[in-house]
Amino acid sequence: MKLLLRFPSYLHEEPHTAEVILETGAKINIDRANVDAVRGELIIDVPRDKVERVAELFRERGVEVRKLMKLIAWDEGRCVHCGACISVCPTDVFKFNPLWEIYLEEEKCIRCDVCVKACPLRALASVE
Ligand code: SF4
Ligand code: SF4
Repeated sequence: MKLLLRFPSYLHEEPHTAEVILETGAKINIDRANVDAVRGELIIDVPRDKVERVAELFRERGVEVRKLMKLIAWDEGRCVHCGACISVCPTDVFKFNPLWEIYLEEEKCIRCDVCVKACPLRALASVE
């Protein structure tokens, strides 16, 4: 399961993510990281059996934690199956089926928003 972590600036000094990994033994994969001098935002992929404990430990440290159930919204009614999203997505979320229609493997999404900008029909939107 994916978690969105927002680190306030005062947490920058400590290796919180490393501490949570060591404490839980969770094999956490960092899908996306936006970090600058004033804040940090990570999207991490956590094994389902560890996600509650991982979220709890981050919250105890003052990190804002949100579970991301869905990362990308696809309006199938607007989609014309042009394939533009296939060529730009870095994680191969979009595929053609044998009828040359698009389908999504949403669990691969890292919420980069590249496809949202690339879709000529505005059939894609990131989910907050
Ligand atoms: S870019 Fe938009 S219209 Fe084209 S296949 Fe993807 S979702 Fe459909
Ligand atoms: S947001 Fe990024 S990773 Fe997710 S489907 Fe769109 S291009 Fe792919």
